Amino acid sequence: MSLIKGRTGDWEIVIGLEVHAQLSTASKLFSGASTEFGAEPNTQVTLVDAALPGMLPVLNKEAVEQAVLTGLAINANINEHSVFDRKNYFYPDLPQGYQISQFSDPIVGSGEIEIELDGGLTRTVRITRIHLEQDAGKSLHDQAPNHTYVDLNRSGVPLMEIVSEPDIRSAAEAAAYVVKLRSILQYVGSCDGNMERGNLRCDANVSVRRPGEEYGTRCEIKNLNSIRFLQQAIDYEARRQVDLIESGEKIVQETRLFDSNKGVTRSMRSKEEAHDYRYFPDPDLMPLDLESDYIESLRLSLPELPDQKLERFINDLKLPLDVAKELVTEKEKADYFEPVALRRDAKLVSSMVRKDVFGYANNHSLEISEVPVLPDQYGELVDLVSAGDVNARTASEVFVEMAETGKSAKSIVEERGLKQVSDSGELEKILDDIIAGSEEQVVQFKNGNEKIIGWFVGQVMQKTKGQANPTVVNDLLKKKLDK
Ligand code: ADP
Ligand code: MG
Repeated sequence: MSLIKGRTGDWEIVIGLEVHAQLSTASKLFSGASTEFGAEPNTQVTLVDAALPGMLPVLNKEAVEQAVLTGLAINANINEHSVFDRKNYFYPDLPQGYQISQFSDPIVGSGEIEIELDGGLTRTVRITRIHLEQDAGKSLHDQAPNHTYVDLNRSGVPLMEIVSEPDIRSAAEAAAYVVKLRSILQYVGSCDGNMERGNLRCDANVSVRRPGEEYGTRCEIKNLNSIRFLQQAIDYEARRQVDLIESGEKIVQETRLFDSNKGVTRSMRSKEEAHDYRYFPDPDLMPLDLESDYIESLRLSLPELPDQKLERFINDLKLPLDVAKELVTEKEKADYFEPVALRRDAKLVSSMVRKDVFGYANNHSLEISEVPVLPDQYGELVDLVSAGDVNARTASEVFVEMAETGKSAKSIVEERGLKQVSDSGELEKILDDIIAGSEEQVVQFKNGNEKIIGWFVGQVMQKTKGQANPTVVNDLLKKKLDK
């Protein structure tokens, strides 16, 4: 347990998260407009999204399916009966004057997620509910000096709100929770988890208490769009609350915003100013009634989930926990690794892929799927290493050239004469020359300076431009010098 040290003793942080995840549907929740990212403003808006009078919403079946699959993936109860409600408030980018959401009867009820902590530890976080709702449009304040423009492309985009119980106890656990949740959503295919684009955003409810006592009053920090900001905001907010309580003040329940430039949270509105949304069932939409056969057929169609893949990587591929975890957590990494590892040495592939491919993506700020070398092409490079034709270090250089030129591993190795020298006859000749010209070093070795072997290996590498097979060189050296 990670406690905060206060002037008057220890404090425990209590956190509950509300995550908004944009569903991966092609069209909006109640209209046929596209949800494609990056379009010109107001080009993906139907009359429904612009809320013209008399327009009627039609529920997107795909969105329902993705929400149910997500619920099943977190072992949640799927509610066969759910209801869409109007959440009423005025905002310039909300042309309806209300958001269609689910209030008392959400589509998914209670579930749970197992999160992974440092040192191989795990913890279960309970999920309260998942409900479906539409996103609002976007106000653009930076397009003209005296005007605010409104872009309705986002208006009506389908979101899932995933609400956790207050089971999280530190910023690190909150981060682990979001990482795990994002991973599950990616595997299910219900959200791409892209936080930079705002497709996954997080509200953090934070309170502090003496260990084991009743929950304290919470503050809600809105709209955290990176895991780093989530952690910073929680740590700042918990410390702020401890300082307030210890100086005799009371926490007032309120909504706060995180200022990522200053690293502080600031009050946005208090509970008294909180909206009264006057929820009521949307008369334009029938309640959503799902048949149990439909739910069961979706259960059968669930893909392999991160926990199952992790187990398989550890048990079948014999990968160590931390390596398996890295490969599994981001679905794109697993998608790259798996086809390469098929019928190859999984340990070799995992270490090569992590260094070359993931390293390259990281250095060039690319998604793994944008790395210009495809898994099949990369497999050829792994085969050259397995066959002893190139060593791992040369392979990394070849990989970069593959990425930059689009050439195959084999052709680069041939063109540049990079093939590793494993032929002991050839290496013996080189060694004999070196030994003949290094009497002093030979004497030192005979007198017990074993470290000097490294010097000999270095000489061979220099002569062969790094292409000698180091295992063969070491074996030969020992044989020759021990004579
Ligand atoms: P509201 O209806 O005001 O949104 P909820 O009861 O739905 O309130 O809770 C919203 C979120 O706040 C949930 O994620 C829940 O886990 C979390 N939460 C509730 N009480 C606390 C608390 N004392 N400290 C931290 N988080 C809390
Ligand atoms: Mg809430």
